[in-house]
Amino acid sequence: MQKDATQEQIDKVSEEIKRLGLTPVSIPGTQRIAIGIIGNAGPIDPELFIGLDGVRDAIPVSKPYKLVSREVKPDDTIIQIGDVKIGGNEFTVIAGPCAVESLDQCLTIARLVKKAGAQLFRGGAFKPRTSPYSFQGLEEKGLEILAEVRKQTGLLIVTEAIDHDVLAVVEKTADIIQIGARNMQNFSLLKRAGKSAKPILLKRGMSATIEELLMAAEYIMSEGNNQVILCERGVRTFADHSRNTLDLSAIPAVRTLSHLPIIVDPSHAAGRRDQVIPLSRGAFAVGAHGLIVEVHHDPKHALSDGPQSLYPEQFAELMHSLKTLSSVSQEGNK
Ligand code: PEP
Ligand code: MN
Repeated sequence: MQKDATQEQIDKVSEEIKRLGLTPVSIPGTQRIAIGIIGNAGPIDPELFIGLDGVRDAIPVSKPYKLVSREVKPDDTIIQIGDVKIGGNEFTVIAGPCAVESLDQCLTIARLVKKAGAQLFRGGAFKPRTSPYSFQGLEEKGLEILAEVRKQTGLLIVTEAIDHDVLAVVEKTADIIQIGARNMQNFSLLKRAGKSAKPILLKRGMSATIEELLMAAEYIMSEGNNQVILCERGVRTFADHSRNTLDLSAIPAVRTLSHLPIIVDPSHAAGRRDQVIPLSRGAFAVGAHGLIVEVHHDPKHALSDGPQSLYPEQFAELMHSLKTLSSVSQEGNK
């Protein structure tokens, strides 16, 4: 729509789309509103819309995903929760333990990562573990702990929903709901996430292509939730010097194809702490919108992912080095 399109003109276009038996989906941007059309079996003639009042252009989308594509929305999506922004020119850091283990553990880590500059706190209350005998999370008790951490530190909370039932519980507490790599193509869970009022952090599946990741995000957006943050967390390859292979090239690729923010999880990519700082710096350099990093004050005794968790001092060092990189890149932009 044109920048100065009125609500009435927007409504008229939506009505016209419905009249054709199709579904309009509004995608608000910083400059203008775009109206995506879904439900069509084949191409639609752009001329049906071009003459309507307030319409700037009608663009056939060449990709199988529509609402997530830059063709539909050229400007970057910026997700704002309170004072925290993710997307655009922001670089936002989420940090915390893999799993919520106790209030003490979470508060200790949260205070340290906040001091170092993290804006959000991560911690799984419901854990998707490879073995049924591994720690599965503190569940509801874990969510209560996360709410207490937010109350005491002011940090916003990111936590994972592993299935439908859990999502209904998690969305009451979380500021951002994580959908993990193992669930990236759990299409019914994605649809349910699309009905949530909370932003969704969608992690790339361990052998998913970029197109599959974007189609997964499309499931969420097609149900009406525009607040999707993508996350590159490494894919499985023949390499055995790290747990997964961080696909840094996914960042510029996604930024070209989609308006959605994309952050990097160097912890699950590497699976080992010594690679987390260099990979984070790489993520910053290739244009990621932020990081989600595992940090633990006592990783030897962590109940999950200790070997890849940074010590709080290392996290502070990482934040410091990102500041240095940021001043270099600003220098480069002058
Ligand atoms: C996690 O963030 O703790 C996690 C399980 O991540 P992933 O889904 O990327 O493996
Ligand atoms: Mn983990």
